[in-house]
Amino acid sequence: MTDCLFCKIVAKEIPATVVLETDRTLAFRDVDPQAPTHVLVVPKAHHEDAAALGGAGGGLAGEVLATAHAVAVQEGVADTGYRLVFNTGPGAGQTVPHVHAHVLGGRGLTWPPG
Ligand code: 5GP
Ligand code: ZN
Repeated sequence: MTDCLFCKIVAKEIPATVVLETDRTLAFRDVDPQAPTHVLVVPKAHHEDAAALGGAGGGLAGEVLATAHAVAVQEGVADTGYRLVFNTGPGAGQTVPHVHAHVLGGRGLTWPPG
């Protein structure tokens, strides 16, 4: 999609701090981190939200989750615990309509998040 921020990051048209890349996924640091570790994991293909990703088939949703876990390991937060968040829809705070998992860790994460 031409007018999508994360498609542009995937295409390297907009710079980002990439921490991990696979054939079908990209992980990069959130520009406004809410925790010591705050990384976004996206499928390179444009899918609007978690529901679309789940319906995409081909194991893509699983690959996004596997990349998210690999990021947590790489960032050293897999053992202490980390949170995966898919804000889905504007009412839940989704501001970029290209599905992304937030990988949050490195500080105490309360539940419920509020
Ligand atoms: P959402 O609110 O859609 O769940 O998450 C979007 C996230 O993208 C936000 O946490 C925001 O800080 C991050 N973000 C917005 N623009 C950019 C950008 O240009 N680069 C990076 N790396 N992150 C961005
Ligand atoms: Zn996109």
